[in-house]
Amino acid sequence: MYDPKSLKAEEFIDHGEVLETLRYAEENCGNREVLDSILAKARLHKGLTHREASVLLACEDKEIVAQVEALAREIKQAYYGNRIVMFAPLYLSNYCVNGCVYCPYHYKNKHIPRKKLTQEEIAREVMALQDMGHKRLAIETGEDPVHNPIEYVLESIKTIYGVHHKHGSIRRVNVNIAATTVENYRKLKEAGIGTYILFQETYHKESYETLHPTGPKHNYAYHTEAMDRAMEGGIDDVGLGVLFGLELYKYEFAALLMHAEHLEAVHGVGPHTISVPRIKHADDIDPSAFDNGIDDDTFCKIIACIRVAVPYTGMIISTREGEEVRARALELGISQISGASRTSVGGYVEPEDESESSAQFDVSDKRTLDEVVCWLMKLGNVPSFCTACYREGRTGDRFMSLCKSMQILNCCHPNALMTLKEYLMDYASPVTRLIGEELIRKELPRIPNEKIRQFVERNLEKIEKGERDFRV
Ligand code: SF4
Ligand code: SF4
Repeated sequence: MYDPKSLKAEEFIDHGEVLETLRYAEENCGNREVLDSILAKARLHKGLTHREASVLLACEDKEIVAQVEALAREIKQAYYGNRIVMFAPLYLSNYCVNGCVYCPYHYKNKHIPRKKLTQEEIAREVMALQDMGHKRLAIETGEDPVHNPIEYVLESIKTIYGVHHKHGSIRRVNVNIAATTVENYRKLKEAGIGTYILFQETYHKESYETLHPTGPKHNYAYHTEAMDRAMEGGIDDVGLGVLFGLELYKYEFAALLMHAEHLEAVHGVGPHTISVPRIKHADDIDPSAFDNGIDDDTFCKIIACIRVAVPYTGMIISTREGEEVRARALELGISQISGASRTSVGGYVEPEDESESSAQFDVSDKRTLDEVVCWLMKLGNVPSFCTACYREGRTGDRFMSLCKSMQILNCCHPNALMTLKEYLMDYASPVTRLIGEELIRKELPRIPNEKIRQFVERNLEKIEKGERDFRV
């Protein structure tokens, strides 16, 4: 049955293959010879198969886990350097017709305030985000063909790109909406979206159907095959993710990698990003009701194993996680984080009282964007507001070849420094600016290509004088 090239969900995420992988992993996770050969392959920085990576995840030997983590750090540095791309979610509407049991937006929840932003309200939210310094958004809506049809999403994207406020403009809109048709994906592509993100929630079909008892999302195959339709519609940057805590994490991990292998096998390009959300408290949702929750150490181990398995895929962590876990996760492979997020509809203009919140989940990291930027720099990272690739047409396999040829230091790094400089000039507190200017001075010589380095030096001066939006 298992066929990574098949377009049928049950064949590229074949349940039998996942179980066989877990059995193989259990059988070999103490076998030194097998482990050594997997680690030797991982040291080539070209990735691992779902079976190989599952053996590493199953291994409890402290010395091997330390080796995997060291490798994850090494790969993170080799492909992504010390830059961290910043983004923020923007919730447009929490109307939803689905019955997902882990999300407070499920249609049976009658007491959560339902909200849908008008275009004027969206513009105000965008200005509030621009006033913080954000350039990259991920828009989110519930699934509701009456309240949130595709036309509403398209109009909202147009509104977002159209708001130019003080020094700000949103330069990349990623979209996280329900699985839809090829035709609608084509419309999203034409609207100029960056990445299309859709979390699988769980790859375990039986659990999936229980956790999604009603609504269009109940259809496992339609949901799981969404990325193929998105790619058919011309969107070549797609973002995967599972909600850890719903099912056994080892099952999700193997299946997630099988999904990545499927995209590579069929479309020639793997996922652009992988997100690693864990289930969190929200309105009528109690995370302890789900018995597959994972502790912080396991969570970090999963991140390290994903980093080693798919070196070319960006990894995202949200404000669901607190400062301490985020710091560990950053080292082990995360390349994008959200900052100063509001997970309620309209929450940037009017922050809500938690007791009456329309939020999708409780935020653990409540710091301002300036505090997060400052913290990142103190940890030795370069916060980046770069959006260059999508605007330069470097998506899909063109982006992957940039990543695979390891041109990060000649491309992402210059863009990170120039966009950080803009942030420092336009939005940073005096302390953050001081730290940032010093960091830029220190990081400039790390750009290997002399011509690009000089180009960046000239542009940093121009930014000082008020010019904006430079990119490599
Ligand atoms: S997870 Fe998405 S589809 Fe499910 S209830 Fe929440 S908003 Fe609706
Ligand atoms: S240059 Fe491209 S890959 Fe690098 S940070 Fe910018 S958008 Fe991302």
